[in-house]
Amino acid sequence: MRQGIDIIYQATFFSFPFLGHADFLRKVSKPSALGDYSYEVIDTKLAKTTHGKFIVQLAFYSDLLAKAQGTMPGRMMVVLGDGREDVYRLADYTYYYQGLKDRFLAFMSEPMNVPSEAALLNSSLTTEPFPCDKCELCHWRERCEQQLDEEDHLSRVANILKTHIRKLEAQGIETLQQLAELPDNSQIRKIPGPVLRRLRHQARLQNQKKIDGELRVELITPDPDIPKEIGDRGFARMPSPAEGDLFFDMEGYPHVENGLEYLFGLYYFKKDEPVFLPFWAHICRFISDAVYDSRLTSEAIAAKRKLVFKKNALEALPTTGIHYLPVKHTDCSQTSQEEAAVIKDLYLQLLEQSFENEKGEVMQISHDNILVVSPYNMQVNLLKRELPTGARVGTVDKFQGQEAEVVLISMATSSGDELPRNIEFLFSKNRLNVAISRAKCLAVLVCSPDLLSIQCKTPEQMRLVNTLAWVAISAPI
Ligand code: SF4
Repeated sequence: MRQGIDIIYQATFFSFPFLGHADFLRKVSKPSALGDYSYEVIDTKLAKTTHGKFIVQLAFYSDLLAKAQGTMPGRMMVVLGDGREDVYRLADYTYYYQGLKDRFLAFMSEPMNVPSEAALLNSSLTTEPFPCDKCELCHWRERCEQQLDEEDHLSRVANILKTHIRKLEAQGIETLQQLAELPDNSQIRKIPGPVLRRLRHQARLQNQKKIDGELRVELITPDPDIPKEIGDRGFARMPSPAEGDLFFDMEGYPHVENGLEYLFGLYYFKKDEPVFLPFWAHICRFISDAVYDSRLTSEAIAAKRKLVFKKNALEALPTTGIHYLPVKHTDCSQTSQEEAAVIKDLYLQLLEQSFENEKGEVMQISHDNILVVSPYNMQVNLLKRELPTGARVGTVDKFQGQEAEVVLISMATSSGDELPRNIEFLFSKNRLNVAISRAKCLAVLVCSPDLLSIQCKTPEQMRLVNTLAWVAISAPI
């Protein structure tokens, strides 16, 4: 490396307690402790696509390389079996990788308490399979699948969550068939009625297929029990087309030289001619770094805005920027009472404080100056019940295009086990970007710390979780 060789094969790094052999290092023009150049890592794989574990491996080598050359590489590459080179921005994965590494080191430093084989054979210990994201790599998989089928285990119900299974089992419902046969008026503690109906209906469909072999397809009709104030859901929420429609767009345009051409834009019709109006938004450093590769800068005027707290009030909160507020909870999927309580407390305290606008005027914070955002309608409804009348609470989609001095974000889900949808929904970079960038002064991210250590399978999932971990690290407690 000191000689500045262009390509280095089988680069070996040792930094206690880690040892790594990177397939290749490639010289790039970014300066480092070595001189006016540095290196980036390339790994070669026979696979056709980049798997999540390749990214962890590359981030690991890049971490070791950073120590050797005194600067973090900007990118890392995988050359796949068909010769294609996939390029990944290291900053998109660093915080996720760092969390993995910290947990690995903590785990390795704990004393191991593994019973001997003889002790295990003589013990009355029995094991029960429970599907998890390791199953697809596990050599016990076939045996576990067979056992779960034989037991008619509740995990066989499509889209059921671990937290639902625990609650059903607590009330004696242990099989798919038992769930299918549950009377219509049954109630299960801590499972909301509409959720229980959906699970029971799904179990009935599957149970029926087991009986007569027929695969049924049903269209989902709107749930009559969804309160009127929530309104329509899904496509039913789309308004009918009208002449004055404006299409709001939030995009980067990667093909223009140097990247982004616009951040926000409006598309509309003027005298029957389509018009596109691009304009820039107020953004903070985090959004620029995490989402736009540091290519955006905030308007100078934005730096003048700040919250003004009374003496001894909200001492843990900064007056500008992003703040991460971890709230420990378990078994929460789309609603978290714990987060709602923290947000209520914050909200009420904020109403006693003031903010300074770009003209230097100091004004009392009111409902107009706070947005409360959650990805889930159920958490939005809970927050609406908890917060005073007039509070602006909604999903991210509702507040697109709006701003407020403070944004309080409630993620609601406890951990990967309780994710009601996929990782891509909750961790959506766009959703987080929109939520945080609504804030003119301060964004507070209230979330369970276990969401930062969620298991990812693909590079895309890692990139998404990395963004949340980045928020947490950029905004120390
Ligand atoms: S397949 Fe492996 S990981 Fe999955 S439940 Fe069975 S033993 Fe556990």
